[in-house]
Amino acid sequence: MMSMPLEKSPQLAPVGRIAELADQCVQCGLCLPVCPTYALDRNEAESPRGRIAIASALARGLVDPTAGLREHLDHCLGCLNCEKVCPANVQYGELLIETRALLGPAPRRPRLLLNVIKRPALMRALRRFGGWLALRRWKNGLAQRLPVHSPWRAALFNLPTKAPATPVRISGNDRQQPRLALFPGCVASVDDAQAQQAAITLLQAAGFHVSVLPAFCCGAMDLHGGATAAAEQAAQCVRQAWDSSGASQLLSVTPGCLGTLRRALPGVSVLDPVELLATRAESLHFRPLAQRVALHLPCTQINVARTDVALLQLLRRVPGLEVLSLPRPPYCCGAAGSHLLEFPERAAQLRDATLRQAATLEPQQLLSSNIGCRLHLATGIDQQGLRWPSLHPLTLLAQQLEHRH
Ligand code: SF4
Ligand code: SF4
Repeated sequence: MMSMPLEKSPQLAPVGRIAELADQCVQCGLCLPVCPTYALDRNEAESPRGRIAIASALARGLVDPTAGLREHLDHCLGCLNCEKVCPANVQYGELLIETRALLGPAPRRPRLLLNVIKRPALMRALRRFGGWLALRRWKNGLAQRLPVHSPWRAALFNLPTKAPATPVRISGNDRQQPRLALFPGCVASVDDAQAQQAAITLLQAAGFHVSVLPAFCCGAMDLHGGATAAAEQAAQCVRQAWDSSGASQLLSVTPGCLGTLRRALPGVSVLDPVELLATRAESLHFRPLAQRVALHLPCTQINVARTDVALLQLLRRVPGLEVLSLPRPPYCCGAAGSHLLEFPERAAQLRDATLRQAATLEPQQLLSSNIGCRLHLATGIDQQGLRWPSLHPLTLLAQQLEHRH
């Protein structure tokens, strides 16, 4: 299926578009109780309603883009909890993207670091070099010597100690089946290759035919960081890869990539594999696993992929598996793309609150679909000596899959 270039629905200049989106807000305040940053600060400027007012005033030229105002916008996690509960259907995510694009890249944006993270081949080479230098033994000591606000400090703490799995491979496709293309992404292609392989195993067992696109960044971190040119370049790469795939649906095991992929490919079906697997759940059989797991649902799984219920249903098909959702739904863990690098202290506060919720469940392991969330949570788990392994839910499902022929 051919993709169309990105279209902006109303033909308005960004400033007019921001004002138009902001004017949809009736200031009811129903979004405030679900906003994690409002819960942190109890400050109107750190709430969705406050940010909409700031964006509107900036777009209309009523205020100058001071560092303080800018920071309130940059603290936003893009979790979209506010958009989900809004009775006026304010497109908050779109408003945030347009406003950040208008203001340009955020001052705290670690450009050099992001340029490394977004390149999977470079990341794999650096990780091999790091393994050779036994980086896992001294990375935390090195991180502690760096300034508290340094994004490199946060990156070192969050760097996994395990060597990356081999990139995903395809074998055993039945060519009669509908064709799906898997988008590997950047960080996920290096640190979540195991989950991507698991998705392929499960999809093939359910009778789907899967191909894999080349590994590159979808542009989410640029789009949400106000780096418009880089985001558009990434969107073009997505369109080219999609157009040459010959597939009918695009999949990502990382819910955090879905919104950006959908934006780059309007009219194309871009899904979490969980959605497709749930439609053929009866064809999947699992071996028992007597274990108690805490299920962390990333904001993007709930608010963008909308596969939280389907995932729970799939996991409940594993006999003996006790799947427990975190008692307080749905709150961002603080990873939020590059937020954990730009505002590490705020990210740690949100993460530790999430881990306190998980600890009440006394799990044997923690499941989370988003690689950014999982690395961030794993750092907290390690720092708190909790010893829970963390896994993508599809990895667990593939490990328990019974192969019946
Ligand atoms: S819920 Fe919607 S309309 Fe109400 S304050 Fe929040 S964004 Fe505005
Ligand atoms: S996207 Fe999340 S963090 Fe940002 S304003 Fe909405 S609820 Fe708050």
